[in-house]
Amino acid sequence: MHEGVMQNWLDSSHLSANSMVYVEQMYELFLDDPTSVSDEWREIFDHLPKVEGVSVETKHSDVRDLFAQLAKNKDRMVVSGADQADAKQVKVLQLINAFRFRGHQNANLDPLGLWQREIVRELSLAHHELDDEDMSREFNVGSFAVGQDKMQLGELYSALQNTYCGSVGAEYMHITDTDEKRWIQQRFESIQSQPAFSTDIKKRILKGLIAADGLEKYLGAKFPGAKRFSLEGGDALVPMVKEIIHRAGEQGQKEVVIGMAHRGRLNVLVNVLGKKSGELFDEFGGKVDPSLTAGDVKYHQGFSSDFATAGGNVHLALAFNPSHLEIVNPVVIGSVRARLDRHNCDNGSKALPITVHGDSAIAGQGVVQETFNMSQTRGYKVGGTIRIVVNNQVGFTTSKQEDTRSTEYCTDIAKMVQAPIFHVNADDPEAVALVSQIAVDYRNTFRRDVVIDLVCYRRHGHNEADEPNATQPIMYQKIKKHPVPRQLYIDRLTKDGAISADEVKQLTDSYRGLLDQGERTVEEWRPMEAHSVDWTPYLNHDWDIAYDKAVSVEKLKDLGKKITTYPAEHKLHSRVKKQYDERVKMLNGEKLLDWGFAETLAYADIVERGTDIRITGQDSGRGTFFHRHAVLHNQEDASTYVPLENISKEQGKFEIYDAVLSEVGVLAFEYGYATAEPDSLVIWEAQFGDFANVAQVVIDQFICSGEQKWGRLCGLTMLLPHGYEGQGPEHSSARMERFLQLCADHNMQVCVPTTPAQVFNMIRRQSIRPMRRPLVVMTPKSLLRHPLAVSSMEELADGTYHNVIDEIDDIDASKVKRVILCSGKVYYDLLEQRRKDNQTDIAIVRIEQLYPFPHAEMDVVVEKYKHVKDFIWCQEEPQNQGAWYCSQHHFWKSIPNGANLTYAGRKASASPAVGYASVHAKEQQALVNDALTIK
Ligand code: AMP
Repeated sequence: MHEGVMQNWLDSSHLSANSMVYVEQMYELFLDDPTSVSDEWREIFDHLPKVEGVSVETKHSDVRDLFAQLAKNKDRMVVSGADQADAKQVKVLQLINAFRFRGHQNANLDPLGLWQREIVRELSLAHHELDDEDMSREFNVGSFAVGQDKMQLGELYSALQNTYCGSVGAEYMHITDTDEKRWIQQRFESIQSQPAFSTDIKKRILKGLIAADGLEKYLGAKFPGAKRFSLEGGDALVPMVKEIIHRAGEQGQKEVVIGMAHRGRLNVLVNVLGKKSGELFDEFGGKVDPSLTAGDVKYHQGFSSDFATAGGNVHLALAFNPSHLEIVNPVVIGSVRARLDRHNCDNGSKALPITVHGDSAIAGQGVVQETFNMSQTRGYKVGGTIRIVVNNQVGFTTSKQEDTRSTEYCTDIAKMVQAPIFHVNADDPEAVALVSQIAVDYRNTFRRDVVIDLVCYRRHGHNEADEPNATQPIMYQKIKKHPVPRQLYIDRLTKDGAISADEVKQLTDSYRGLLDQGERTVEEWRPMEAHSVDWTPYLNHDWDIAYDKAVSVEKLKDLGKKITTYPAEHKLHSRVKKQYDERVKMLNGEKLLDWGFAETLAYADIVERGTDIRITGQDSGRGTFFHRHAVLHNQEDASTYVPLENISKEQGKFEIYDAVLSEVGVLAFEYGYATAEPDSLVIWEAQFGDFANVAQVVIDQFICSGEQKWGRLCGLTMLLPHGYEGQGPEHSSARMERFLQLCADHNMQVCVPTTPAQVFNMIRRQSIRPMRRPLVVMTPKSLLRHPLAVSSMEELADGTYHNVIDEIDDIDASKVKRVILCSGKVYYDLLEQRRKDNQTDIAIVRIEQLYPFPHAEMDVVVEKYKHVKDFIWCQEEPQNQGAWYCSQHHFWKSIPNGANLTYAGRKASASPAVGYASVHAKEQQALVNDALTIK
């Protein structure tokens, strides 16, 4: 069939295409980039046979055969003058293609002019065998989007250079989607990358530069030597971010969340977010916020405000963030996902994330890859992030490309999701504004990530006390002589007559005046309107604040029925069905409830109350240990059914996602979500508890200290499977000791529930109690199916999470000689052994919340044993791990005066657990015996 199509086309083509070579070359172009040939060519080539699953090369050879066959027709192979013209025509199209692919490599991107880039031969006329004689000849320009079909070669060549080798280096030919490529081509080629901004916009840009420069100079003069991580050199960031917000607002965005590290942060706070300059000066002067326990340095501070745009006010939030570069990005994206959910928006049109990266960090930090990978997934997508790289070409003191990365650009990582990358020379603020607008439009059209690489420099050292000449002598000699961006733009505008020198002076003086008065400098700043989420109900509570714990057995039965019901045609796997059948038995009182059912009942109760739940984690839908089965997979057609989504019409949303295989990116995302949404229950679950290791930065820098540093509450729950069951060093411990070591200032809760009723009421407490503090849970593995780890409906309906559980067997307290204190799974080992041995002089007390330590509850329990002198803390973790070292002072405080406290457990160990099941079993038996043997 294709032969006929080709033949017809050859017969009817307006080009003299009777040369096989010519057609082949066109086809080569088409294979490289379908958009590089005209619509007619594309139509022909699109009709050629497609062989599924084979490489382009194979397809190509198919077509070569076809062309060879066509060429057998001798009449068609006469080489004429027209053929030669056609050959040149092909070269011209190849030239266009070369600029699209590689123009950015010869673009004028470095303001300092220090980049040494190879000349790209494919961008020269000679490479394409085009010469001076051809310059005045007209050629068809194919799909080059200049609004005309034909152009003289000379004119075309300069259009290509303007478009692709000016201040913008558009890198997008790695995108496979033809529509996206054509869209980008249209945007740049139609104006040859030269925006025609109105005088108003130009003044807006200039004001941004005056502000960026003015603030830094002011701070430099008033607080010499103080660290401020000056933006100077990358001044265009300020007008750029403002342009993005304006554009986003015009397109209907309601919220923009920005994440950035130190560089330029103070400038963005004052000149974009509208923080009062006087407040910043107070911070430089050492003013302390009395509401915070710890506080933070000024260049970590966040801020919230509204910003007026032609499309209405946009709410802005700059995320608080620690020094660890890049980790704030998933936090920001998670925060945006929460806001989108609040707006009931699933396409990203109501909230936009902007992440600002450093050039070394974006290439160096793995979390960047994680967020790119998350960007289009069900659980984490937000309709695209605008990522800006403040590329000052040096990371602290490391500038050589061969030291910082293995790729040509620092932005190459973005190609993994085929994000377009717009490199831009920061000394050309109009080009910067152009790519800002195109980035917003692209993101809002295609709902995907887009990158702007703002190529700039850093006027001072890493901070202002640093001496950059020591390590970057040539660069800094150049910088010293290089005019500031504000001056360059003033020169350009005054030369063009767009602004007068008087006006410039007036703008500069008026900005300076605002700083002198400690005023706000952002015209677009508006006070925050009544915000869509209210945190006040969660502020300033003690742990013991009363909350509505009540749940009746009837209610539980009703909920239980709903979560064990699924459509008859939904065929469950036999093992899953068995578990659901068991749940029905538990519901009917034939069995006590197990962990999975009790946990699921908690979720049912919470959504039934109208609260949304979001659970993500590795294998969370099913549960790593096959216990949850929140998502039911139909064995016949692989469709899914989620009973928790079908509780009632008015219920809250229940969302559960199997996470991408990441910890740090995902946990940071959920932290961002939870700090933006107090009304949802947000849970992250690790496949095994030790996986949280990979997210330690999120735990250290956000989860455990965000409230104390920044006053940002967070109700995130972390479920971390923990327990010594002979599974070796890495899957035994969730590293409880690390969490306990981070506990202070009532910053978070560390719980180790041991019964289904406890997990039920712990999850409910976290959601219903009007307090938002992180909850870290050591969740069980073998207890999920342990015959003793079961609860009655009545125990669930008790409604209380018991921070301490006293002895449950019928043991006379007055005869007790030893009290064992413990947490977690080891309790059942002790209980079983004691029962086996018929021991009645040892009581076992479970501490189910290790932090905040439940002193009041312990006092009540220990009162019964105040005659006992022998207290033992028993744990299955090695002595240097688990709760022994970090919580010992609490245990001592709990026991009666004069009593002794000793340790029963594994000896200190470098590794969390042994690798041999038999050694594990011996150790476990020994520590149980040790705890139960009174000498
Ligand atoms: P945002 O939407 O993040 O700009 O927040 C708007 C306002 O809500 C902030 O200025 C705070 O007063 C409050 N707020 C936001 N997040 C939190 C949080 N995690 N904890 C306490 N208050 C918050």
